Amino acid sequence: MIGFLESLQDKSKLRADICIVGTGPAGITLAMELIDSGLKVVILESGEFEFDPDIQNLYAGDIVENLPPVPLDVSRLRFFGGTSNHWDGSCGPLDRIDFRARDWIPNSGWPLTREELDPFYKKAQQLIGLGTFEYRSSTWSNKNLDLFEIDGTDIAHGMRQSYPQRFGPVYQKDLENAENVHVILHANLTGIHTNEAFDYVTTIEATALGGKSITIDVKSVVLACGGVENARLLLAFGFSSKLPAIGRYFTFHPHLLTGQLLLEKPVLHSRFPYRWHDISGTRIMHHFLLSEQAQEREKLPNHAAKIKEIRLVDAKGYSAAKRLNERLRGVRNFDHVMDDLYDVLTDLDGAYTQWNRRHSEHHISLLNIETYLDQSPHPDSRILLSEDKDALGIPRAKIDWAYFAHEPAGVQRFNEILSSSFGAAGIGRVKIADNMTDPTNFEELVRERSTGHHQIGTTRISEDSQSGVVDSNCRVHGFNNLFCAGSSVFSTASHMNPTTTIVALSVRLAEYLQSHSEVSA
Ligand SMILES: Cc1cc2nc3c(=O)[nH]c(=O)nc-3n(C[C@H](O)[C@H](O)[C@H](O)COP(=O)(O)OP(=O)(O)OC[C@H]3O[C@@H](n4cnc5c(N)ncnc54)[C@H](O)[C@@H]3O)c2cc1C
Repeated sequence: MIGFLESLQDKSKLRADICIVGTGPAGITLAMELIDSGLKVVILESGEFEFDPDIQNLYAGDIVENLPPVPLDVSRLRFFGGTSNHWDGSCGPLDRIDFRARDWIPNSGWPLTREELDPFYKKAQQLIGLGTFEYRSSTWSNKNLDLFEIDGTDIAHGMRQSYPQRFGPVYQKDLENAENVHVILHANLTGIHTNEAFDYVTTIEATALGGKSITIDVKSVVLACGGVENARLLLAFGFSSKLPAIGRYFTFHPHLLTGQLLLEKPVLHSRFPYRWHDISGTRIMHHFLLSEQAQEREKLPNHAAKIKEIRLVDAKGYSAAKRLNERLRGVRNFDHVMDDLYDVLTDLDGAYTQWNRRHSEHHISLLNIETYLDQSPHPDSRILLSEDKDALGIPRAKIDWAYFAHEPAGVQRFNEILSSSFGAAGIGRVKIADNMTDPTNFEELVRERSTGHHQIGTTRISEDSQSGVVDSNCRVHGFNNLFCAGSSVFSTASHMNPTTTIVALSVRLAEYLQSHSEVSA
């Protein structure tokens, strides 16, 4: 059943075996896995079926020095289906090495292995609508793709699949028809009440923007509100007195334009494996990684690089737009710049026509190298509460991002290894971005390309309650019945987009909840 909070009586009291907060990929996966479990599941969702600016405004927050550079009410969506309403659908599991404790990566190591997660990844593939759980490039790169032949053991191929499924519309009917599931829209989590011993959640409070509220007596609660919001809510409701790591170890997958690659032998666009291809109904794309041996030897994290064609229209269009912007700066009377504007439009038109003519089949020779960072978890990189409050009186989130001083040099080294491997294999020559080790340059590079769309690590899985917030079952340390789902629980970030792992961990959590919950009479 799906309904609105306003259709319930003000101050109604409900009961739930499991209360899930949030209907993004994490919350919907949990709910789908608990259908027909016999458990009474209540799901609270702040939004409705469509975007609403007043509800979205509850997500606005502060970002110190604009890193990540995208505002908090842009990098997530607050309605049924969550941020999957505009995600890109790039998917893949984390690599084996991501789970390992690496003595060269501060705070690394999950109390879980990739092998333990594999069965859940398989289920996640189905729930997201992807192809089979197969990420070996040898399986996909058929004779129609010209995969680079890389010599040596330093560089390896990785790959991802894509299917930008909108979780809300896809699973709405199932949730409407589920007898044991009640989704309540316009239900913002506004309180988490515990017993006196402060180790058990007794009641959850939800409020609509109009002021109507309900309470739910719960046996278990899962926060599935996204990587920033899980931490914000726990901080706002006083949990940091017991759990000092809430909000810490935040990262967002910075990606940087780190160089250009000029190919020795141009590759046909149709055979170029480093863009999206449809193979037997699955969308796939390849990228580059350092092999595990190279990561160990060089003491580097698990960064990845994508190579992307530099198209004439991009290059010309960019310089034309830049020229126009320079001319327009401070200009009020546009008559003076009409000639410039005309030139710029002619440039753009010419570039577009050329690109169009060449687009269907052409040779690719010049490429941008984009590095996707696996940032090491840093305790001072954090979500805090702002002085400002939202319309429900909850302090807004504030991001204060930090990174280790050695990390820019690691990005530089990763690119050097990539370049020499490309050179040695006769693939092409690389021009590496200037002076990445200078923090000002590094942060400029982070600002240029990064988005902040992945928010990671703020209630991380850890062995103890000092270095993280949840245990390996995603249960908040020191609380019997409070859980977190989503990328906030990742111990380390990897280079890979997070949603496949979010869904896999949610399938695993649903299984745990089912086997550890008593069905209400
Ligand atoms: C532009 C863009 C592109 C992206 N592309 C990719 C990609 O290609 N691959 C990838 O893996 N990831 C991508 N992501 C990230 C991806 O969208 C997220 O990882 C994913 O949506 C997280 O799922 P979630 O369920 O944890 O959180 P969300 O999807 O953010 O859902 C959180 C839910 O909680 C609800 N909520 C929040 N606060 C409250 C409250 N107080 N009370 C009640 N409900 C609340 C929200 O309304 C929302 O429904 C992208 C993100 C963006 C912005």
